Amino acid sequence: MQYPEPIARLIASYMNLPGIGQKTATRLAFYTIDMKDEAVNDFAKSLLSVKRDLTYCSVCGNITEDDPCEICADTTRDHSIILVVEEPKDVMALEKMKEYQGLYHVLHGVLSPMEGTGPEDINIPSLIKRLENEEVKEVVIATNASTEGEATAMYLSRLIKPAGIKVTRLAHGLSVGSDIEYADEVTLSKAVEGRTEI
Ligand SMILES: [Zn+2]
Repeated sequence: MQYPEPIARLIASYMNLPGIGQKTATRLAFYTIDMKDEAVNDFAKSLLSVKRDLTYCSVCGNITEDDPCEICADTTRDHSIILVVEEPKDVMALEKMKEYQGLYHVLHGVLSPMEGTGPEDINIPSLIKRLENEEVKEVVIATNASTEGEATAMYLSRLIKPAGIKVTRLAHGLSVGSDIEYADEVTLSKAVEGRTEI
């Protein structure tokens, strides 16, 4: 039996989401049919709003409603230190611990020769521009402890250090392969505190 077109389309949409297979997508689609009109409306509006009302900060690359973002625009933060992460969700995780007072830079990926991702393909050129124009004393590299994350850290270190800027790496309280977004707040603040120069 074929599902009516609107249901088939909704199932296909749910299946585009990560970790959702046919079975779950079908269950969600039928659940949606049973939802109140108002709830479905709100759901659809939130989906559109994350695309329409959010943008990337032109300074740090983080997701934001205003450009520059709240963090970059905050003059009470320490603008002499920049913590480099792979994804916007890493910023959210680090902000949750409320201890780090510096700025961020979001790469939106890592260097990967295997996948053909070079420095120009991720947010590295804009980081270099920031370092040229702002008074930055330290760059903390918080890419994940994966092979690509380590290679990206080494690349950045070699690029930045000659400019006389201190380059540090998060302490390995984070085990290999463990992503920042999954680390708890205590582990994260220890990793930031115990960062070492590379
Ligand atoms: Zn920003």
